[in-house]
Amino acid sequence: MVIRVVVWNENVHEQENEIVADLYPDGIHGAIANALNAADGVSAATATLQDPEHGLSAARLAETDVLLWWGHAAHGDVSDTVSERVVEAVWSGMGFIALHSAHFAKPFKALMGTACNLTWREAGERERIWLTSRNHPIAHGLPDQFALENEEMYGEPFGVPEPQETVFISWFQGGEVFRSGLTYRRGAGNVFYFRPGHETYPTYHDPNVQRVLQNAVRWAHNPARRVPDVTDTPNVPVDAALEPIEERGPRLHRDGEAGFR
Ligand code: ZN
Repeated sequence: MVIRVVVWNENVHEQENEIVADLYPDGIHGAIANALNAADGVSAATATLQDPEHGLSAARLAETDVLLWWGHAAHGDVSDTVSERVVEAVWSGMGFIALHSAHFAKPFKALMGTACNLTWREAGERERIWLTSRNHPIAHGLPDQFALENEEMYGEPFGVPEPQETVFISWFQGGEVFRSGLTYRRGAGNVFYFRPGHETYPTYHDPNVQRVLQNAVRWAHNPARRVPDVTDTPNVPVDAALEPIEERGPRLHRDGEAGFR
């Protein structure tokens, strides 16, 4: 079975900043897709903010097993319609991997339901990433810790709900720490947040980072059939109840009427 992946990127810094363009001539999305396509059983394509419907039509999401999301400068330009579509795809079983500054991406914030804020500093400092369990599938094949020589600092407190699992913890040269790899389940969908990936550093060329992303795609993939009509709220009339019941008391809704939203 091939895992069908879409790497989504706002693709703004690459077009506006020379450093980022030099680091990622195929865009951050291109670099990540190349790394994922090097893994067995993974087929990764890309989509960007500039594509019609941001490259995320309902038809395309229906055929996407795992969506990765990199956004930063243009969170506000993502249409609410597309964001809601992504969230519903996750509820129905699509995997979702939020990368770095995607902590403020519309679909990630909606999935978390909290502020998703953090402290930060752009000083090119060393980040040391520790794994919390050698047995976690997202940590497969990784050393107990690895370093990124230049990264942006993200520090606690990180305004996300308590995760299902904390797979990575980061230490920064300036003294801060951060929960860098977090797993969630939202509906039928597996969600993973992975912290590193500031645009002015070569983070996505790092073999350990690439390994994490390959592992995370496999972890996030839910092979079960998508949950159909995941937001439906069907009314069950009295005469369709499993056991015979008698209607009692007043009511607001008529038979067959759609409920309020
Ligand atoms: Zn950044």
